[in-house]
Amino acid sequence: MELKEIYQFDDCHQNKNLYMKNPKISFEVFPPKDGNISDLFDEVRFLKKYNPSLISLTFGANGGTRSLSLEILKMFIDLELNVMPHYTCVGSTKSDIEKYIVAIENMGIENILALRGDPLKDITFEPDFRYANELVEFIKNRTNLSIGVAGYPEGHIECENIHKDIENLKRKVDAGADVIFTQLFFNNDKFFKYVELVRNAGINVPIIPGIMPVRSLKQLDKMVGMARVEIPNNLRQSLIKFPNDSKKLGIEFAINQCQGLIDFGVLGLHFFTLNHSDQTSEILDNILF
Ligand code: FAD
Repeated sequence: MELKEIYQFDDCHQNKNLYMKNPKISFEVFPPKDGNISDLFDEVRFLKKYNPSLISLTFGANGGTRSLSLEILKMFIDLELNVMPHYTCVGSTKSDIEKYIVAIENMGIENILALRGDPLKDITFEPDFRYANELVEFIKNRTNLSIGVAGYPEGHIECENIHKDIENLKRKVDAGADVIFTQLFFNNDKFFKYVELVRNAGINVPIIPGIMPVRSLKQLDKMVGMARVEIPNNLRQSLIKFPNDSKKLGIEFAINQCQGLIDFGVLGLHFFTLNHSDQTSEILDNILF
């Protein structure tokens, strides 16, 4: 099923009750570094009971996971899941991208998350695409794929300010993106403000918040070191005080966060599962839809 069918923005927008209590659930997983996909298969099969609208699969910017990515997508399709592979254009040639999008369309896949990715240290050629909006345009012109793009409620780390970043987000939507999936964040007010700024900029596609259940302070610091994300002081202090309860604290925090987002009326919740179904599952069991 295509992104625009899953997140029916126009209908829902007109009838708030349609989406106020029933956000679509999606899960993001990554190809295992050791190439062993059987654990991932078990995690995803377990999460299937939540009837996800989508499973998204991240894409290694250095290309190391490309063939594995197709194998994993096939496994998800065999599980009768609706998939959204990510694709990062940094370090890819037009021909690489063309091959990949043809391959996924031939598998019957209807969606893609089009990303720039992070610049590679050892890149030896001038990339064919500098920004994600160019990738969106390329995919739109060649396929019928429904396209998702990334959004950053606290601004992308390289961008001088949030307004400039939203101007760049608009380039992606104008080029044909159907849905925005956000970077993780912990302060819902930042997301609410972002939605307002995005709408004021004339962008009218669904914005799906990304939720990352915290597993430990170390993992949290690593993630936010790569992005512009504020960690609330109360969360940090509890993780310092009760390091052995980190997973439980992460679950409690995420339940509250999701509840706030549901009350706001989000169309979906996109979970960065980090390939562990335990926390995501417990969060979903405790959310009041
Ligand atoms: P862009 O939209 O191109 O933006 C990158 C920067 O350039 C921003 O600062 C933007 O403001 C600026 N910019 C954009 N367009 C222009 C323009 N035309 N002119 C001037 N400046 C411009 N990374 C992976 O490697 N693999 C993944 O699978 C992956 N999945 C992700 C999933 C989600 C939901 C999110 C939020 C991020 C994901 N990322 C992934 C991370 C992403 O690749 C990085 O954040 C990357 O740095 C930016 O990618 P982008 O598509 O947002 O880039």
